[in-house]
Amino acid sequence: MMDCIFCKIIQRKLPAEILYENDKVISILDINPIHFGHALVIPKKHCLDFLSIPEDDLHDVLHATQIVTRAIVSGLNLEGFNIFSNNGKIAGQSVFHFHMHITPRYVDDNIRFVLQLKSYDDKMLAKYGATIRDHISIQ
Ligand code: AMP
Ligand code: ZN
Repeated sequence: MMDCIFCKIIQRKLPAEILYENDKVISILDINPIHFGHALVIPKKHCLDFLSIPEDDLHDVLHATQIVTRAIVSGLNLEGFNIFSNNGKIAGQSVFHFHMHITPRYVDDNIRFVLQLKSYDDKMLAKYGATIRDHISIQ
């Protein structure tokens, strides 16, 4: 992909602070971290998002995410961390090459989704359950 920042990093056309790399995956420090040490884990094959990455590549990304997370937790002496992935512009995705985020967490760091949690009534719970079950397909 010509205009993809992460493809350029993978091809060494843009600089990055590389934490880990193998033949399928690269992990770098995020340039604008939530906390210092915030890392990204990126498949070398360009794919848009969580739904389009092939299963084998997803497995490689998750394995690398675990390897890098262990290093961040032990290197920075963390008690907790978040791993997440933004998918789609409305969900906050800004680089359209699939990636996992790993970010350190600290006591009282005040990072939170501002949520107004809903409750289901009985019929809605069953309806949402049925709709989603109807769309389960193993590919
Ligand atoms: P997302 O918004 O979930 O798509 O995440 C993209 C992330 O990539 C953001 O957190 C950016 O700070 C980060 N980012 C963008 N450009 C670079 C870069 N050149 N090197 C490292 N991280 C980057
Ligand atoms: Zn790309």
